[in-house]
Amino acid sequence: MNLQVDYLIIGQGLCGTWLSWYLTKENRSFIVIDKNEPTTPSKVSAGIINPVTGRRMVKVWMAEQILSFAREAYNEIGNFLDITAISQKNMIDFFPNALQRLVFLERMEEGEEYLNSFPEQNQFNTFFNYDLGCGEIRHSYIAHLDVLLPAWRQQLKDNKQLFEEEFEFEKLVIREQSIQYGDITAEKIIFCDGLSSFSNPFFKQLPFAPNKGEALIVEIPDVPDQHIYKKGFLLAPLQARNTFWFGSNYQWSFPHPERTPEFYEQAHRHLKAWLKVPFSILEHKASIRPATLERRPFVGLHPHQKTLGILNGMGTKGCSLAPFFASQLVDHLLRKKEIMPEADIKRFQKILAR
Ligand SMILES: Cc1cc2nc3c(=O)[nH]c(=O)nc-3n(C[C@H](O)[C@H](O)[C@H](O)COP(=O)(O)OP(=O)(O)OC[C@H]3O[C@@H](n4cnc5c(N)ncnc54)[C@H](O)[C@@H]3O)c2cc1C
Repeated sequence: MNLQVDYLIIGQGLCGTWLSWYLTKENRSFIVIDKNEPTTPSKVSAGIINPVTGRRMVKVWMAEQILSFAREAYNEIGNFLDITAISQKNMIDFFPNALQRLVFLERMEEGEEYLNSFPEQNQFNTFFNYDLGCGEIRHSYIAHLDVLLPAWRQQLKDNKQLFEEEFEFEKLVIREQSIQYGDITAEKIIFCDGLSSFSNPFFKQLPFAPNKGEALIVEIPDVPDQHIYKKGFLLAPLQARNTFWFGSNYQWSFPHPERTPEFYEQAHRHLKAWLKVPFSILEHKASIRPATLERRPFVGLHPHQKTLGILNGMGTKGCSLAPFFASQLVDHLLRKKEIMPEADIKRFQKILAR
């Protein structure tokens, strides 16, 4: 039986979820193929959306635009699915050293609107060791991916829009105006397949830069869950009661993608020194962020094969960038609107001709 749809989407991580959401809103037909791997970056992610980044506390790329877009998008999909998909949880930044304290105070004096002095300096004394005080990063959020991704997957399954299987390139036939994959005929195929795109025959030339990260899931019965906490590492509350995500590291070069005892020991030591209350480690996870050399996403249609598209390269910021660029991609597909040039894969026209 031949199945005719507008789009075939490969992958249901953050990118595939948001692309299929915006196509649903536009009443377009699609099928998502996802092999349901147990460990993917979207499943390992903390879900944090943070307006400032790095040791120098600089504003993230397009902070205002992307943050307000993400907040509305998660609220909208959450209302549709009847779940809480996002919560605002300002970040308490416990200064790990005198230099970081200085940087925070200087950035505040320069008028950085997201940084705030925290008047109740002793509020967290019962739970944490922190000798150098703390500041507050406002307008931070947690996207509840542990709830959102399975809820959207179930929605797709109920609508018979999800095929839980491995996508195989050998079965793909590309035509001038359409693609064929087994029984599925689609106008276009859009790859939201994360790390698999690194070896995708049509897109592997793109300058991906894989970045490995590890995290622990920790049970801490006493720490309040109204904030995200930071002291070098991040401690972020999950939806399950008394449960927190703790991490991460950023490795540009690594011998294998698996969990390492080195990270486990380092994270355990860090938690022991930071927390004044008992904790237990429930899980240890590792995954690879689909990052890019120039730290900008890969969005759009293949410059030389208009039936192929990609939404990828979200790096360390998938939670905020994926909804924004999924929406841009849909506007491009349906209304031919321009994709932001920094993200449009048109910029790799020459490389992709090889
Ligand atoms: C430790 C860690 C912490 C992070 N924390 C944050 C954070 O706090 N905030 C933030 O914004 N970002 C964070 N990130 C980054 C974020 O997780 C990624 O940017 C994002 O998840 C990438 O989503 P994606 O949909 O592109 O890829 P993926 O999540 O990899 O999704 C791709 C999907 O495609 C499927 N797939 C691939 N190949 C095939 C195939 N051949 N057939 C069928 N299915 C296939 C995979 O199974 C997967 O489900 C973190 C990442 C890591 C590793």
